[in-house]
Amino acid sequence: MNHSPQTDTILEGGILGSCNAKLKMQRPEEDNDLRQRAYWLVRLRWIAASAVACGTFVSARIFHIPVQEAPLYTIAVLLVLYNAAVLDLLNRFMRVICEQSRRRTKNMIDIQISTDLIILTVLLHFSGGPENPLVLFFIFHVIIASILLSVWESFLQATLAISLFGILLLLEATGVVPHYCLGPQPSSAAFGHSLTALVSHCRYEEKAYLAAKFAAFAVTVYLVVYMAGYIALRLRRAEQAQRRANQMLRQKDRIKDEYVAHLTHDIKGHLAAIQSCLGVAATDSLTGQAAEFVHRAYYRTQKLTAFVRTLLRLTRLKLDGTVETEFFRASDAVQEAVEATQLAAQEKSLHLECDVTPAAATIAGNAISFKEAITNLLLNAIKYTPAGGTIAVRAQPHEDSVIVEITDTGIGIPPEEQPRIFEEFYRASNARQMEPDGDGLGLSLVKRIVELHHGTIGFCSELGHGTTFHMVLPVTIPPEVPAPAMAEASGQPQA
Ligand code: ADP
Repeated sequence: MNHSPQTDTILEGGILGSCNAKLKMQRPEEDNDLRQRAYWLVRLRWIAASAVACGTFVSARIFHIPVQEAPLYTIAVLLVLYNAAVLDLLNRFMRVICEQSRRRTKNMIDIQISTDLIILTVLLHFSGGPENPLVLFFIFHVIIASILLSVWESFLQATLAISLFGILLLLEATGVVPHYCLGPQPSSAAFGHSLTALVSHCRYEEKAYLAAKFAAFAVTVYLVVYMAGYIALRLRRAEQAQRRANQMLRQKDRIKDEYVAHLTHDIKGHLAAIQSCLGVAATDSLTGQAAEFVHRAYYRTQKLTAFVRTLLRLTRLKLDGTVETEFFRASDAVQEAVEATQLAAQEKSLHLECDVTPAAATIAGNAISFKEAITNLLLNAIKYTPAGGTIAVRAQPHEDSVIVEITDTGIGIPPEEQPRIFEEFYRASNARQMEPDGDGLGLSLVKRIVELHHGTIGFCSELGHGTTFHMVLPVTIPPEVPAPAMAEASGQPQA
């Protein structure tokens, strides 16, 4: 929905001005819930407005029930207009998440339910009052109130529903407002045929019947609100408990990551020292078993260093949750990764095909991390493709994203193991058989890097035939650099 810029500024200024910045994003999950509930109510009202219009048409024109068409159609139109206004207001509240807008949204839900109850009462009045079976719709509203509001607020809404129904019965019974009967009617010249009677006689004057109906209605409404409220309360508590548990898990996960980061950082230093000593020893004139042991130790240390480095990178990425942002061309990064892995492919007699469209499209993120992700995928393709196979790399712009695909003719991934391959330390059974060396961290790192670039990664694989990994990354246009700054950067004299 469009708003004039002026109204937007006034409204946002009003809400934003009174919002404490610290409160922003404090309870994102609860805010999201509230938002969803508010929009759910609006969606229900669209359905209700269409139902009123269609129901009136079907009742009057098809079943020839004597309902008051003009007022009922008017109510349907008013419902649409009212709902559009509510949606507009809601959209404005939702732009700002703070305590005040949250309270306003809650109040709005409250007011909407009350307004809906009033509209339903008017609608019933024009369509037979107590004779209309749609009286049951009060119950429906009360259930909605129990789901969306607190216990005492839903009891208040229930009391309003009962009062409105009581007032309607009273006003019609005392003749203050006319009663539009759904009982037998004289034939209507307008329709050219007699109208259908929905009830055998009008009941708006039968005081005992009305009193009994009102009592049954009141008891039912309170019972429904009590039961629905109880269930909703339990669900809400369970939801809150789950949220708290999730939060604790996240905290613990973070502590674990911090611990792993410290540990791997320390180990990395020692490993580097051991590796360089072994490197020197390995080149010395050692012979026989001693030389073999030193070479093995050197090889193992090299593997361990690579593992520790990857683990440290992955943990840091998880802890930081962001990458340093620059703008770079995805096609360049892919091309560089292909060049870096060319030799490894050749050594294994693999055919490496590269179809990269050198597009000007840039993505926002970290070029080194991105290149690392592509290199990881390429090294995996090389590792899991038997000699003589083919690896194809494709990078092409598509609409407002860049698609990168790496296809190999390798061993593939067993279907039952596919859902787990992005998990840390997970290695498929056929990969473990083919290549005992591996840590199962590469793909987790790749996925994390892609996500930090706001992209997605997926794959399709056929066991024994090959695998294709595909990434989709959003293209981001770099903000324009002001002319003087550009001149400064390029070292040109300013005018
Ligand atoms: P690693 O390669 O060290 O085992 P990764 O995290 O890079 O760890 O990959 C996880 C698992 O995904 C691999 O063990 C392998 O089972 C599977 N996998 C990844 N890439 C391929 C590929 N191109 N072909 C077949 N399997 C693959």
